[in-house]
Amino acid sequence: MSSNPVAETVAALLPRAKAELAELVAFKSVADFAQFPKSESEGAANWVADALRAEDFTDVAVLDTPDGTQSVYGYLPGPAGAKTVLLYAHYDVQPPLDEAAWTSPPFELTERDGRWYGRGAADCKGGVLMHLLALRALKANGGVPVNVKVIAEGSEEMGTGGLERYAEQHPELLTADAIVIGDTGNFRVGLPTVTTTLRGMTMVRVQIDTLRGNLHSGQFGGAAPDALAALIRVLDSLRAEDGSTRVDGLAQEAHWEGLAYDQEQFRTDAKVLDGVGLIGGGSVADRIWARPAVTVLGIDCPPVVGATPSVQAGARALVSLRVPPGVDATEAGKLLQAHLEAHTPWGARVRTEVVGQGQPFRADSASPAYRAMADAMAVAYPDETMQYAGQGGSIPLCNTLAGLYPQAEILLIGLSEPEAQIHAVNESVSPQELERLSVAEALFLRNYAAG
Ligand SMILES: [Zn+2]
Repeated sequence: MSSNPVAETVAALLPRAKAELAELVAFKSVADFAQFPKSESEGAANWVADALRAEDFTDVAVLDTPDGTQSVYGYLPGPAGAKTVLLYAHYDVQPPLDEAAWTSPPFELTERDGRWYGRGAADCKGGVLMHLLALRALKANGGVPVNVKVIAEGSEEMGTGGLERYAEQHPELLTADAIVIGDTGNFRVGLPTVTTTLRGMTMVRVQIDTLRGNLHSGQFGGAAPDALAALIRVLDSLRAEDGSTRVDGLAQEAHWEGLAYDQEQFRTDAKVLDGVGLIGGGSVADRIWARPAVTVLGIDCPPVVGATPSVQAGARALVSLRVPPGVDATEAGKLLQAHLEAHTPWGARVRTEVVGQGQPFRADSASPAYRAMADAMAVAYPDETMQYAGQGGSIPLCNTLAGLYPQAEILLIGLSEPEAQIHAVNESVSPQELERLSVAEALFLRNYAAG
């Protein structure tokens, strides 16, 4: 990094940030209170609240959200008339999974091969530290030129929607001119990346019935309408020969305009077995960021162990449809229902029901906030140009914020690059990424205030 006072301050503050991240990682803040004591999450929430108070935040509050978890809020007033920026992270983490498979204990931040290992180190306790480092660097170099709101969620990984409901009930709380969601990641280490789109999702349950009861497959098989066979056929109708998603009436030809995702890199990232082909059409980025993608999440039918020689009278499945930006998730859900009903063979009885839904998101990458971020990234990553990536999954809060504050510019950055292995065993964060992204966030706030 070129010599820049903000960058020098962040570099000097990094050892302290490591010690603080170790404290935060030590809380087993999994928001599944049947498995992990709630006191662990409360400890992490209080840690974040104390850290904000120490940075002169006013109105620091640990908020009880409707799902029984807590989000931490703080407000740092800036100069009179300044813009307001909301910084988001979450302090809850995924469970450690197989603790024995970790090379070092999941809740002890451990340095190894230039990375810091621990559950939540990248996703998203590192994001909390990124926000703190950015603010400290500005305070040490002339001050924070915007009003800052921080919100640290306590149940992001559970998907229980506590903060979303709370924000809907208190829409004034998180109003901002720009929002930085510190929960995504660079496309690879060292390549500054802003996530500009998220796919939405609709989930449909399909039930097929053909008989009043199961029948013996020897006596009746061959003529009796088999509900499981009908379900298999209707599910198969959701794919073309190359495996791409086919839902009647749903466009499948969109192209991704940003970053290219190399096919070999994707094979490695996705851990595809040798000799097995990818599915779908178009580029990898088209497939995972710009086009709809169907996945059968579950099928109710007899398990292999204990199966009897029976023709099934009924069968059901749960089908997920990831919906790209530009497509309305409600409309896509209706098309999926209609498709499943139309493709059910043999006059079998079919019922479909939408059981979950989230809209896709697309940021305005031509906005002043994006220019401010691109200029900041150019200083933090002097040899690289900021890239635009999509994300196949969804961040429901992002849609809630976009809906509540349609005028706010939303930027998604963070520490969860592929090597971080978030949600897996041996999660880690790159200290260089923490350093650079903290510098970028600080300079973003400065650029944005001046713009
Ligand atoms: Zn996360």
